[in-house]
Amino acid sequence: MENYKVLSVIGEGSFGRALLVGLQNTAEKYVMKEIRLPKSSAAMKESRQEAVLLAKMKHPNIVKFREAFEADDHLYIVMEYCDRGDLLDTIKHQRGKLFPEHTILHWFVQMCLAVQHIHEKRVLHRDIKSKNIFLTHTRTIKLGDFGSARVLSSPMAYVCTYVGTPYYVPPEIWENLPYNNKSDIWSLGCVLYEICTLKHPFQAGSWKNLILKICRGTYSPLPSQYSYELRSLIKQIFRKDPRQRPSVNTILKRRGLLKVVNVCASAQLDDPSDLPNDESSSIIQPRKEQRVAAPDVSPLYVAQESTSPLSDRRQWKKGATDTVLNVLENASILTSSIKANTSEGGHVIKYDLKEKRKEWNKEAPETLLNILSNLDLCSAFKTYTIYRAKAPEDCLKGLLCNNSQAPDATDSREEEIDIDPERLETRSDDEDTDFEEEEGDCDWVSELQRVTDPQ
Ligand code: ADP
Ligand code: MG
Repeated sequence: MENYKVLSVIGEGSFGRALLVGLQNTAEKYVMKEIRLPKSSAAMKESRQEAVLLAKMKHPNIVKFREAFEADDHLYIVMEYCDRGDLLDTIKHQRGKLFPEHTILHWFVQMCLAVQHIHEKRVLHRDIKSKNIFLTHTRTIKLGDFGSARVLSSPMAYVCTYVGTPYYVPPEIWENLPYNNKSDIWSLGCVLYEICTLKHPFQAGSWKNLILKICRGTYSPLPSQYSYELRSLIKQIFRKDPRQRPSVNTILKRRGLLKVVNVCASAQLDDPSDLPNDESSSIIQPRKEQRVAAPDVSPLYVAQESTSPLSDRRQWKKGATDTVLNVLENASILTSSIKANTSEGGHVIKYDLKEKRKEWNKEAPETLLNILSNLDLCSAFKTYTIYRAKAPEDCLKGLLCNNSQAPDATDSREEEIDIDPERLETRSDDEDTDFEEEEGDCDWVSELQRVTDPQ
């Protein structure tokens, strides 16, 4: 701690504070996230998970971890400072002036490369939003805030606890269906739409309309200046059935993006600050004050074949009728007590950072709606935890997912037969792997050691 001097407070939230700090006797600046450690050991483990997961990530488009330590019941995570702030602020500053398509594609590809890296490590981010994507003066995108991320393991299964921000939450969450890597893709699509239109795709004046818009996947078309490629990309990402949604690998293989992918890859090779294994990155273990070498992150989970027999996939109850959409369609209008405020440009909904992170039990849509009716809609831009039924068998299969008998083919394209030329391309489902939350109980010091140990 004494290595750093606090320069300013740059963010405050449920976790504690984000501080801009300077490394003593140098001009180097970092962000130090100061997280109040909860009393319960389970909650403490969750807090430490953020440091563990960030340390595991080594990618030019992910905020670089420097070190983590504990002092006075707080966990401190020191990371790279992204000096151009977050993408939401960048969008607000546009004041209605659209970004050129090449900027959008350049940013989007970098976001995809970051998500590809975390998905390869069987980690779900679970809170991808423009507020958690940062920019540097070199116009590099950096995905940050791993406070909601989780390590997942077994393929062909799903997470039943969800953390996320309602505006970016995919239909399967509202439908009480399982969550997997495709849900991160939906959130990524929301960010892509935001940088194309400077608006959120599913803006609404009430919770009911927000959820209805998300579950129906209805959004205004992109401004006409953007290409067919961009429109078709968004359309595919906003497929309500996660199995129909492209994986990040599939997105990055799109013809229209390949050139940008190559440009981003070569730019990253040229940038020495982004080279992995920077010796200045380290993890300080709590209390022992011991500094260990930077993590030479090798994938902790060997990629598993996604060609397992369909019978391996878990099934959910069929024929349940109480889907969110059903309930919503018959519900009286849920209006928030305070309507969402729009920013000066009238595009971005403001929210109060200081409010505590809230949690709800999500057992049935009615319960959820009852809770939502007491919540301001502007809080839908905050991160929540949704606890769901423990066993996947208890998760209801919703009516929205109408082809419940369909094979578990992934990235399939049943729509757009006539208009989508990419339909003709040969496709592989290999990169599309569903995975579930890790069960193992591993303490954070040994976890950090495992990551940092060069073997
Ligand atoms: P949370 O969303 O859980 O409150 P974040 O990790 O997103 O925590 O950090 C909170 C705020 O601190 C961000 O919204 C951003 O304004 C600022 N911040 C966090 N990390 C960075 C970073 N690496 N560079 C610049 N600003 C950051
Ligand atoms: Mg955040």
